[in-house]
Amino acid sequence: MSAHFLQRRVTYQSRIGNVPVGSQSPVMVQSMTNTDTADVASTVAQVRALSEAGSEVVRLTVNNDAAAKAVPAIYEKLEAAGCHVPLVGDFHYNGHTLLHDYPEAAQALAKYRINPGNVGFADKHDAQFAMMIETALKYQKPVRIGVNWGSLDQQMLAKVMDENAKLARPEDASGVAREALVRSALESAKQAEAIGMASDQILLSCKVSRVQDLIAVYRDLAARCQYPLHLGLTEAGMGSKGIVASTAALSVLLQEGIGDTIRISLTPEPNGDRTQEVRVAQEILQSLGLRAFVPQVTACPGCGRTTSTVFQELADTIQTYLRNRMPQWKQQYQGVEEMNVAVMGCIVNGPGESKHANIGISLPGTGETPSAPVFVDGKKTVTLRGERIAEEFQAIVEDYVQKTYSPQQNVA
Ligand code: SF4
Repeated sequence: MSAHFLQRRVTYQSRIGNVPVGSQSPVMVQSMTNTDTADVASTVAQVRALSEAGSEVVRLTVNNDAAAKAVPAIYEKLEAAGCHVPLVGDFHYNGHTLLHDYPEAAQALAKYRINPGNVGFADKHDAQFAMMIETALKYQKPVRIGVNWGSLDQQMLAKVMDENAKLARPEDASGVAREALVRSALESAKQAEAIGMASDQILLSCKVSRVQDLIAVYRDLAARCQYPLHLGLTEAGMGSKGIVASTAALSVLLQEGIGDTIRISLTPEPNGDRTQEVRVAQEILQSLGLRAFVPQVTACPGCGRTTSTVFQELADTIQTYLRNRMPQWKQQYQGVEEMNVAVMGCIVNGPGESKHANIGISLPGTGETPSAPVFVDGKKTVTLRGERIAEEFQAIVEDYVQKTYSPQQNVA
């Protein structure tokens, strides 16, 4: 972890499948499918795409018999394709029945998500919750007790409201709801432990859709338990709104050392790419210096000094090139994900910023001599000119990676 100034909150150390989670492990990136789980082919394709994009755990809804029946087939097809990403079953209302009726699904899943707000109502709640925990114990699976603002346990809410009404200085309505969320998670965890679940087999989450509420809820939850916490702003929204709101909320918490796994709940554009949520999660962790996934491109925003689109095109070409090359590079070159490449639009900040990067190029702005100096490890090495700047710059990047990050060179 490069951000040595960040102190992670101490938690129990857990595992989801073969992926460790908890304060001693890197913050894990999760995602969730939006295919019909019963549609094995499309679910397998999406899980593979999410895994290839970098999702370390993939959750899928298991909402009915057809979905539960499909889970073992999905698991087997993924394994056959060499995709070993742990699958998490997301259960609501009927999870106790599905896990009981489909033991092969219970076995294939690496973790069960249980929502205490809808695991069963009134006198059925405790019995159905216990059935899910007993299944997890039988198959030795961890659970995430995932509370959600939109499906908060109404009995718990009523109880907290009653207690609040008796206080000399009662909390406002949102304070009461936040307390009910946290209590629902903590008391469910206590209940799971009373049934026999080990502390290190439990993860918690308390998702809400407003940034300040999420921060307040997780600070409180972090102070009151040692379970690893899964972070996410639920119903974050579409496009830049969802990305910005998630980034704002998660950055504050991660900076305080809170959060052991994250998911970015973006609403995709129609026919949009589901893997965007994985890239955003990675970018948040990498921007905070918590993890490195892919070399970063530092590019200036451009201004009136860049009247052509040459530098935007080059920045885009290089970024795409780095991402496409990463699957192969990361097998061969240790530490390549920490490389920084600068693509700058003119002489004002171009040479300076390029010198701070591992490799940088300063393109000519309007009215400047049509040449592009390249800097490698802070030193100007060559000046590129003409139509083939992009290709030549890529060749320099490739050469740098081979020379700098190959294990033989590192050993030497
Ligand atoms: S580096 Fe040059 S082109 Fe880029 S924003 Fe700054 S002044 Fe504008």
